[in-house]
Amino acid sequence: MFSLAVDLTDVPVLAVGGGPVSARRVHAFLAAGAAVTVVAPTLCPALQPLPLGVRWHARGVAPEDLDGVRLVHTATGDPEIDRKVVEMAGERGIWCVNASASAEGTAVVPARASVPTPTGEVTVAVSSADPVRSVEIRNRISHDLRTEPTGLRPRRPHGGWVALVGGGPGDAELLTSRALTLLHSADVVVIDRLAPHSVLQTLDPDVLVIDVGKVPGRHAVPQHEINRLIVEHAHAGRGVVRLKGGDPYVLGRGEEERLACVAAGVEVEVVPGISSALAVPAAAGIPVTHRGISRGFTVVTGHDQIPQLPADTGHTLVILMGVAQLRDTATRLIALGRSADCPVAVVERGCTPQQRVTVAPLARIAGVAAARGVESPAVIVVGDVVRLGPDWAAGLAQCDELDHDRHDELDVLGIDLKASA
Ligand code: SAH
Repeated sequence: MFSLAVDLTDVPVLAVGGGPVSARRVHAFLAAGAAVTVVAPTLCPALQPLPLGVRWHARGVAPEDLDGVRLVHTATGDPEIDRKVVEMAGERGIWCVNASASAEGTAVVPARASVPTPTGEVTVAVSSADPVRSVEIRNRISHDLRTEPTGLRPRRPHGGWVALVGGGPGDAELLTSRALTLLHSADVVVIDRLAPHSVLQTLDPDVLVIDVGKVPGRHAVPQHEINRLIVEHAHAGRGVVRLKGGDPYVLGRGEEERLACVAAGVEVEVVPGISSALAVPAAAGIPVTHRGISRGFTVVTGHDQIPQLPADTGHTLVILMGVAQLRDTATRLIALGRSADCPVAVVERGCTPQQRVTVAPLARIAGVAAARGVESPAVIVVGDVVRLGPDWAAGLAQCDELDHDRHDELDVLGIDLKASA
């Protein structure tokens, strides 16, 4: 079902049935300005006397009753008749609500409430498979709207501000409450490519959204330009949320943006987010530490820092922005003493519906990743903990099939080992 609000002013609506359910809806349709006709052998007290403007045919429903009608509501108390009415409406291309079996109709009346708020009247409409639950949820939402009107985009009186907000790894459910509060009070949202874009749908339509996402191969908005943008909007008195992927301070240039705000005299807050370095391995079922297997982990980008890292497979490496140099990194790790068998997982687009996990031993991961067309963004996890994830066993079995070029492994081990020696 697709939720839609429709204008019923002067629209001919047919209500089949004269019981209490039909009566409630007849009153609602009337309140919306519809031209209502009731067809029912008898009427319950709620329809007596007949409300002004309603026409009544005191008999069972007949096909002609649907002529010229744009919406039908059936609540006869007899499921057979209700089903028949839905069928007749369907043949004529008329939307029909079946009150006795909502799933059988072609339209549904949600649990509704109109709530006055400081910014105008708000209609709450909730539908779910369980009507009782829908009513509960409607009541909860309308209650919150009535009692906490300040939750609605409070505009800060003292002018512009900037919040550098960590948006987590891409799933809007992983935003912090502070992030949501600030997002919903912002005038401007400046968003990165890897931040959770779906949350933008929940913002007021008049919020200015600026996408500065770096798409590989396309021009990104340069950092100094981003700094200028956020400062400029704050100086103009606007609340700016700078929504970043993961955590602002993990390889995210968060401090550069904070310093730019401070230098420009702009009030700035930093809100931590769930870093992909932690969330993405977890989403693939890989704990970065586990008692008896790994006591620590290191987050790195390229392979420059590798010589300084513990080489034993019990120390977990989490590599960000590392897909392009995966072959070099693997070679380097082996040259510096990591076992060629050390398990590796590459988790692409973690925490999103498109998440994909590729696994292989260190010596073979570059070949397998290339065969599977692995792309950024991905988090690479290197260490014994990878074996704990659900993809390891099946992935390992697939390696031989995927890694057609069996020389690949030798290349990695041979040539580059010589080069590094
Ligand atoms: N501040 C971010 C990291 C920015 S660097 C954070 O804390 O998560 C960008 C890198 O993060 C990407 O190249 C990739 O390695 C990683 N990354 C971010 N989101 C990701 C996701 N949903 N899936 C896989 N990798 C992700």
